Amino acid sequence: MEIRDHELIIVGAGPAGLCAALYAGRSEMGAVMLEAGLPGGQLLLTELVDDYPGVEEVGGQELADQMAGHAAKFGVEVERAHIEVLRRDEEGRFLAVAEGGKTYRAPAVIFTAGGTPRPLNVPGEAQFMGKGVSYCAICDGAFFRGEDIVVVGGGDAAVEEGEFLTRYGRSVTLIHRRDELRAAALLQRRFREHDKTRIVWNSVVTEITGDERGATGVVVKDVNTGDESEIAATGVFIFIGFTPNTGIIEEHVDHDGAGYLSTDRDMRTSVPGLFAAGDARSQLVRQITTAVGDATTAVFAAEKYLLNLREQKQ
Ligand code: NAP
Repeated sequence: MEIRDHELIIVGAGPAGLCAALYAGRSEMGAVMLEAGLPGGQLLLTELVDDYPGVEEVGGQELADQMAGHAAKFGVEVERAHIEVLRRDEEGRFLAVAEGGKTYRAPAVIFTAGGTPRPLNVPGEAQFMGKGVSYCAICDGAFFRGEDIVVVGGGDAAVEEGEFLTRYGRSVTLIHRRDELRAAALLQRRFREHDKTRIVWNSVVTEITGDERGATGVVVKDVNTGDESEIAATGVFIFIGFTPNTGIIEEHVDHDGAGYLSTDRDMRTSVPGLFAAGDARSQLVRQITTAVGDATTAVFAAEKYLLNLREQKQ
């Protein structure tokens, strides 16, 4: 088994990972950033970003490229590696084992592997992703000002984000597969009391329709009658669950009820040497700005941790 030693491993290369890489490179920490695919994470699914301070409008892909180039400028090592397991050896060092067995070893890890929105898996979803189909109301809501919006799901996220979307949309139609919502009563009340909202019960989306400009609506099937109808909408927001990509961590790490990693204010998890930043971390909002903020803190906390470790060994 090939083992490569580093001082710090950064798992993931979304905005949090890329920002951690930038600072770790700049501090010459001997870090490696491991990324399964292209750098950018959720940015690669985002058509346009208009809420990154100082950058009025930029394509998600373009911002990802700029962040990757910026990190590279500071000389951080980047490896294309699909990590299957993150565990610790008997000396407490972390081992990130990639597909094929190649292993990266370091006394500290910043975990920025993010999370994955659960997809509906219906025709049109992938085709119109970033062109009407979205998994983030805060990120994309403002692009649908004065337009008709559909929200899919019945949990806290769907109802809360649906209510948030009323500030932009002309109408917000929530489509839920059952006849009652899973969301907390208070969130439900706020949503239902808004004059722009309505709920389509007992219905599933079977297709997202659109044209060359983007999504134009959804085909909805009544689960009781089997009847199909079309609802016009240019924004289709899907909130049917979000899974943090924490499954590769072998050991128990404290987390919240939805599986996001709990950290202290310095991004330390319950496992010494393991820091978390970005979407995988338990927090109020998941934005590019919060991801890079978390990552900045995590790098300096990791640097302190490594310094203490060295002093203890001397
Ligand atoms: P969730 O609670 O798991 O709800 C997912 C919703 O999507 C459910 O209503 C489910 O329907 C529906 N659904 C699942 N698969 C579907 C499919 N294939 N087609 C159509 N509908 C589907 O997920 P979440 O809303 O993302 O929330 C995740 C966690 O974060 C929860 O613990 C939640 O409490 C928490 N959260 C809290 C807040 C807050 O407190 N303000 C805000 C957001 C999230 P069924 O109901 O029929 O199963």
